[in-house]
Amino acid sequence: MSAQQNVVVAVDGTSGSGKSSTCRAVADRLGLRYLDTGAQYRAITWWMLREGVDVQDAAAVAARAGEPDIVSGTDPLGPTITVDGTDVSVEIRSDEVNGAVSPVSAVPEVRTRLVDLQRAIVGDGGIVVEGRDIGSVVCPDAEVKVYLTADPAARAARRALENGADDVAATEASLLARDAIDSGRAVAPLTVVDGATQIDSTDRTLDEVIELVVGLVMERV
Ligand code: C5P
Repeated sequence: MSAQQNVVVAVDGTSGSGKSSTCRAVADRLGLRYLDTGAQYRAITWWMLREGVDVQDAAAVAARAGEPDIVSGTDPLGPTITVDGTDVSVEIRSDEVNGAVSPVSAVPEVRTRLVDLQRAIVGDGGIVVEGRDIGSVVCPDAEVKVYLTADPAARAARRALENGADDVAATEASLLARDAIDSGRAVAPLTVVDGATQIDSTDRTLDEVIELVVGLVMERV
């Protein structure tokens, strides 16, 4: 197997920085798998909400964290996410999940469960993985680490366009609220790790960011 087939590309960064579009395109270009760990945190959050668990109650969330069966499909052209066999790819993008995902993700039992799942999927590599703690916790040995960000206004405009939302200000407020919890939490906070290449996508097109990341992978393996 070539080094490229085993490579792990860890992409962390703030909400709406263009991680998903970038990672999917990079994986497709290089023949790698793709894992969206944010979708898994969203999926477990969706399940907690459906079960009526109080998502602000860390002990209640922790007690049920082992129950849902979450399965991620890693084809970059058609990633999938199911909970107990139900496709939740649309439901996990709802405002309700947006508002609840950061407190649920701050619960250590949730993180342990999902990090184990993520490492099992990463296996021998050959994958682009996106999230908040990939370079720091999930795959600290990743050959390529990227930290992607952009100005809040640019991120909100992109997210609103993707979701068909017309209230960009509300989208920005929701992104900033999640950033604050994700960066300030005690376990696995969003941070720039040593060795990560920082890319600001504010004034770059998606294609430019993709080229930069593909270039980094080619350089390292
Ligand atoms: O990437 P996305 O915006 O879909 O992630 C949703 C939320 O999931 C983040 O705001 C964060 O709270 C959580 N998350 C996390 N660790 C990851 C990926 C996502 O805590 N590796």
